[in-house]
Amino acid sequence: MSQPSPLNIIQPDEYRGRFAPSPSGPLHFGSLVAAVGGYLQAKVNKGKWFLRIDDIDPPRQAASAIDDILTCLQAHHLDWDGEVFYQSQQTEVYDKVLAWLNENGLSYYCQCTRKQIMAEGGTYLGHCRDRNLTPVNEVIGADGHSQYSLRFLNEVSSLSFHDELMGDIRFPEDVSSEDFIIKRKDGLYAYHLASVVDDIQQGITEVVRGADLLFPSACQMALYRALGASVPKMLHLPVAVFSEGRKLSKQGHAKGLDNKKASLNLYLALAFLGLPVPKTLMHDTPEVILQWGQDNWLINRLYAKPERAMPMFLAEYQVSNFSY
Ligand SMILES: [Zn+2]
Repeated sequence: MSQPSPLNIIQPDEYRGRFAPSPSGPLHFGSLVAAVGGYLQAKVNKGKWFLRIDDIDPPRQAASAIDDILTCLQAHHLDWDGEVFYQSQQTEVYDKVLAWLNENGLSYYCQCTRKQIMAEGGTYLGHCRDRNLTPVNEVIGADGHSQYSLRFLNEVSSLSFHDELMGDIRFPEDVSSEDFIIKRKDGLYAYHLASVVDDIQQGITEVVRGADLLFPSACQMALYRALGASVPKMLHLPVAVFSEGRKLSKQGHAKGLDNKKASLNLYLALAFLGLPVPKTLMHDTPEVILQWGQDNWLINRLYAKPERAMPMFLAEYQVSNFSY
């Protein structure tokens, strides 16, 4: 029997969403789509929309990126509620959760390399699960990296979940039951760990993000449950891709948003999501455009550009009940 949750489980009586960019570069159009979708969904549900900065990967962070993100959101009048939440200030909580997972037999050390896992087909299949590896007297490499990562022992695989936009989604078992990394060999906290712990700490009731994170959502469900929390609702939005099909990303050098074109950017984001936004609005103020978005926001009006970003998911996972 597990001990009580290491986290203070909040059950808010209001809607709580969040936008959680990583400060690896300026916000691009794909980030804006996620921000606008999350913001409107929170407003329409008369709830809170928090801003969480995913700043736990210092080597990938750009010095001015946090300021740029805040300025960009303000220029687009995407006003968040409360104080900005910085993941870099949560390391004690992450350590507490890691210790708790360890005490409850829910984590283990793994020595597998990315190369080995790719050779097995790209999904980690539990190679080190029963090896009882313990990094005592470990010689740390010249790069400061350990030979061990820490993995979550994923016993509660969620083979399907309901997405508010995409409907019921089924995942192959090896995908949803993967023992994913919670602390990396370079000593950094893994995205899955920090994201789930902070959703629980902030009492997030619905996660709105890009459909490129559909697969991580399947894995993360088990961690919410192991930590004694209920799984938030999920809403995965269309992902912006380059014309050749590559996803927009900061690492992929997607162009940063031009704050001077905030109205045009917001207009395009709403159109991209599938809302019938009148062309005349692109010359109006960001406040007016966002108000139009609120007044006309209906999830079953959104679409996911199936001819562009989605076929990957359509082919790989059995997706049913499309609402677009
Ligand atoms: Zn391993």
